Amino acid sequence: MPPPTIVVFDLGKVLLDFDYSIAGRRVAAQTQLSDSEVQKFLDQSPLLYRFETGLMTQQQFFEEVQRQTSFRGSFEEFGGFFADIFSEIPPMIELHAALRRKGIPTYIFSNTNALAMVHVRHNFPFFANFDGYILSYEVKAMKPDAKIYAALEEMTGRHGAEILYLDDRPENVEAGAARGWQVILHTDPTQTRTAIERLGLLAGAGAPNANLLQ
Ligand SMILES: [Mg+2]
Repeated sequence: MPPPTIVVFDLGKVLLDFDYSIAGRRVAAQTQLSDSEVQKFLDQSPLLYRFETGLMTQQQFFEEVQRQTSFRGSFEEFGGFFADIFSEIPPMIELHAALRRKGIPTYIFSNTNALAMVHVRHNFPFFANFDGYILSYEVKAMKPDAKIYAALEEMTGRHGAEILYLDDRPENVEAGAARGWQVILHTDPTQTRTAIERLGLLAGAGAPNANLLQ
């Protein structure tokens, strides 16, 4: 099989770590609920699913949070608490940069929401360096729904084994593999980097003078 021509990155737990307990704690401080009750309400909840599928606006999401938790703060405060949950995974940011240095087009493919994206764009410079962004709330479908995979193929103009896709969730990579994409189930940065090197995508990267030494 020829090496893939583009690399598609999941965002959460691949390039950025995230921790909803931080948001749970900050939001809960302005409600009558416990930290864990608020966290459960925000993370992997039906409400978050609707927000990340683009079925509700930021304002509607906030109003629903207010209604269900009696949050006393402003929309701006809530947005800050809700979105400030991310931290970079440095070896994966470097892996992405190495692929860019090789001239390989890269894409973000993420189940996410507008509040998180504003925060990520503002706080993480690496995020500007992709050729395109396929985001669930814009496409109105979440991985592993086939609709968002088709949207990626349409945006990139690539199909099947031309695409290499990294994601930490098995159901998401399986949906890519079912379309003939090459996939890596990401568990740790060293393994993922080795798998990409084996595909030949980083040949020579990081050792620009190797040929001179031979
Ligand atoms: Mg993920």
